[in-house]
Amino acid sequence: MPDTARRGLLIILSSPSGAGKSTLAKRLMSWDPTLRFSVSATTRDPRTGETDGVEYFFKTRAEFEAMVVQGDMLEHAEVFGNFYGTPKGPVEAAMGEGRDTLFDVDWQGGQQIRNSTLGKDVVSIFILPPSIAALEDRLRSRAQDSDDVIRSRMEKSLAEISHWSEYDYVLVNDDLDRAEEMLRTILTAERNRRDRQVGLSEFVRKLNREFDAR
Ligand code: ADP
Ligand code: 5GP
Repeated sequence: MPDTARRGLLIILSSPSGAGKSTLAKRLMSWDPTLRFSVSATTRDPRTGETDGVEYFFKTRAEFEAMVVQGDMLEHAEVFGNFYGTPKGPVEAAMGEGRDTLFDVDWQGGQQIRNSTLGKDVVSIFILPPSIAALEDRLRSRAQDSDDVIRSRMEKSLAEISHWSEYDYVLVNDDLDRAEEMLRTILTAERNRRDRQVGLSEFVRKLNREFDAR
């Protein structure tokens, strides 16, 4: 059950394409089913196996622009020649319920969410590959993109990596189990920060009353 005595966290995962964000996000959600994944809208074509409303909401350019104009996006950006954006409504609903939301967004999305009114509840994590060769291997082994798309993503990987120091945490996704363990540890610690536990003052007052009543 979500912890209603705590505000929801916005957990941002960014990395160069292929470093393992989606894989780690899925593992984190199996570990904690109360986590909500922010399903982005995108104008890119679905990959084999992707379902509308699960990995993304697949939109035409006109539909995407209408969402932006109506103020429905928390953030949006052009990435690899397509548009991607985070629908605002579900994020605000999850925050209100004290549920934590995972975001798989690029550095532009990370900056915009951090600078939004929800910024104080952001925990941002940048994921690095162990090497550039491993990054390329992973993009190829995913076998979801054409050679041209893989080449273009590799060319843009250094630009994404250049934003690593804007993030609260940076982890190298070498061994998947270790990287997942690191993410769990970060999440557990961030959830327990004093300023995030809204019922704490009342709890300590109760301890005081119990002490006085001895
Ligand atoms: P991203 O979401 O960052 O673009 P993915 O999660 O799709 O990356 O991962 C890209 C590919 O690399 C996938 O085939 C995934 O199974 C694989 N992968 C992810 N993490 C590791 C790892 N630590 N070791 C080996 N392969 C990995
Ligand atoms: P992919 O096409 O591989 O699913 O995603 C490409 C890039 O777009 C990744 O870096 C991913 O993090 C980013 N991305 C996905 N959704 C969003 C979003 O809603 N906003 C932003 N700014 N980037 C996104």
